[in-house]
Amino acid sequence: MVPKDAGSRIRRRGLMLVLSSPSGAGKSTIARNLIESDQGFELSVSVTTRPRRGSEIDGMHYHFRTRREFEILRDNDELLEWAEVHGNFYATPREPAERAMAEGRDMLFDIDWQGAKQLKEKVRGDIVSVFILPPSMKELKARLKRRAEDQEAVIATRLDNARDEIEHWTEYDFVIVNDDLDRAFTEVRSVVTAERLRRDRRPGLFDFVSGLLSEKID
Ligand code: 5GP
Repeated sequence: MVPKDAGSRIRRRGLMLVLSSPSGAGKSTIARNLIESDQGFELSVSVTTRPRRGSEIDGMHYHFRTRREFEILRDNDELLEWAEVHGNFYATPREPAERAMAEGRDMLFDIDWQGAKQLKEKVRGDIVSVFILPPSMKELKARLKRRAEDQEAVIATRLDNARDEIEHWTEYDFVIVNDDLDRAFTEVRSVVTAERLRRDRRPGLFDFVSGLLSEKID
């Protein structure tokens, strides 16, 4: 009896999904929905020197560290990539990401264009990058204000930086405009589904197909 999920059981390499966007374009919500709806994904929890927002939990949203602690991690080569964003440092811890890759698990990275670039250089082949655009700059500003976890000055800086971030859209494999969160999420899901089916990401297909071809049909 062939199992109903025969296709999904075929061995494949892990997918490293990078999501980038300017702050407020909805990337974090999409990332969270993806993690909650897809058991296969693990979120890469970044290290940051940014102050913790009220709703954030250390170790879950970020590993909050002092600048000195960050520098020690960086100097000990414990960071896979790092960048300065909005005047704070952010980085991807090396060990969990390398373990996920070695074990063929899928990992999600919510990082900026600088991090995406460094990851692409270091992890050839398995990176799939998606850039999320806001429908307009006006809407982006409104979303940043609604979030209201940051002060006015912080919002202004983020809006300025949004333009710089958006300029890097051509460096990504896929670009999604988030004018409707459900649709944008469905589009990210479609990318994930298609990328998981890629032939070159599924070495297990060789055994599967040779099994198919040698199968005795009564
Ligand atoms: P926020 O402070 O709003 O959580 O994040 C600000 C920006 O930093 C976001 O664009 C986010 O994607 C980016 N970021 C978060 N973690 C990392 C990281 O580990 N590396 C890099 N390069 N950027 C990150």
